Amino acid sequence: MSEGSSRAGRVVFLGPPGAGKGTQGNRLASFWGVPHVASGDLLRRILQNREGSALAAAIRVIDKGSLVPDETVGQVVFEALDLPGAQRGFVLDGYPRSVDQARDLERYLSERRRPLQVVIGLRIGEAALIARLSGRLTCPNCGASYHVMKDPPQTAGVCDQCGNVLAVREDDQPGPIRTRLMLYHQKTEPLLSFYRERGMLREVDAEGDEAKVFERVLASSGGLEKSLIY
Ligand code: AMP
Repeated sequence: MSEGSSRAGRVVFLGPPGAGKGTQGNRLASFWGVPHVASGDLLRRILQNREGSALAAAIRVIDKGSLVPDETVGQVVFEALDLPGAQRGFVLDGYPRSVDQARDLERYLSERRRPLQVVIGLRIGEAALIARLSGRLTCPNCGASYHVMKDPPQTAGVCDQCGNVLAVREDDQPGPIRTRLMLYHQKTEPLLSFYRERGMLREVDAEGDEAKVFERVLASSGGLEKSLIY
């Protein structure tokens, strides 16, 4: 199967911060040729482009690692899912993050008769997570992410994809990392049972080499072409 394959679906990536949702979500989305809708990236873009607005003020809590209110993040994500490019399929990453958000998403998609097909739960130990998050460099322009030790950019401090200067995210500092992990356990982890009960959860071992993890992701999302909507 080649890149841009006609196989596609409506998929959510679940997992703690640092599990690789962004990296794997991006790979699956480009493999299928559908949008990678990453709630964190969308929110950070609003902070950059609409500084001073009421919307940006509601989003500012992300610097501390806290969660943005459900209504705000829902509005931003659903706007992205309404775009024509997302009608063939999409890869959602970072949303939903709580059972309430999962119900909002279920309602939104069922009104459009495009129910979610698969939820990929990335499994990874806490030690590996902290190591990944604490060396992470992110491109504020295109969202690409690197690791100072394990996956450095070709030129130090510069994004391979777009040439922008890389930065350490405000919420990749030790305090916000602890808050994000705590919120994950408290709010997001219950979603594993929520989707398991609906028969939609496929768990994937997210430790180790990125390409190997992607093979597992592809294997776990196989078969979706049977229910494609064009
Ligand atoms: P991420 O890039 O997915 O790690 O998200 C970065 C930050 O954006 C999170 O720590 C939250 O502050 C905020 N955020 C992203 N997605 C959501 C969501 N679904 N609900 C609430 N806040 C979110």
